[in-house]
Amino acid sequence: MLHILNHPLASHVVTHLRDQTTKPATFRTLCYQISLLLAIEATRNLPTEEKAIETPLEPVTGRVLAPQPLVVVPILRAGLGMVQPFVDLFPDVSVGYVGLERDHATAIARSYYCKLPPLAGRRVVLVDPMLATGGSAVQAIAVVREKGAADITLVSIVSAPEGVAAVEEKFPDVPIHTAALDRELNARKYILPGLGDFGDRLYGT
Ligand code: URA
Repeated sequence: MLHILNHPLASHVVTHLRDQTTKPATFRTLCYQISLLLAIEATRNLPTEEKAIETPLEPVTGRVLAPQPLVVVPILRAGLGMVQPFVDLFPDVSVGYVGLERDHATAIARSYYCKLPPLAGRRVVLVDPMLATGGSAVQAIAVVREKGAADITLVSIVSAPEGVAAVEEKFPDVPIHTAALDRELNARKYILPGLGDFGDRLYGT
């Protein structure tokens, strides 16, 4: 199921990310901000449990996150830009890495790195800023599912209808959280209107 972030701040940040005059330093800050908003949305249904504490005034039973460890897995390299908000929000998070590189001629993803913590029974949030053809996302979901992840969520900043359809067709049970659903892919499989190559803009390459 597709969840599109609906918040004025999200629209503001995405517009500045799209703007070709935005420089890498600002782009990284905006990437942090939008990823933080998405991280909150994507973890809305994390389990909680009761905890009895005492305020300075009286005892109360509150709720805290259940000790079910979360794993965030960026799809390298652009996904790296989305990790920090998860680390800041969830101090016990584990971070795994899946390296998939898009061949610019064929737009087909090739795996060049995979380093994952034990995933059996764990909740995994895959992060990849641009859900274009869906090729990388489908490959990455297959990898983490094969390693036993119990619950998988995909988080992207900008998505194309083609990518959403590809993920939904193969993995209809994987929720997708995105900040923008764009119009289409161009012939080179870039998202339109999009924001260009996310990794290049993030790292100034
Ligand atoms: N990856 C990007 O960085 N941008 C696109 O438009 C598509 C895939």
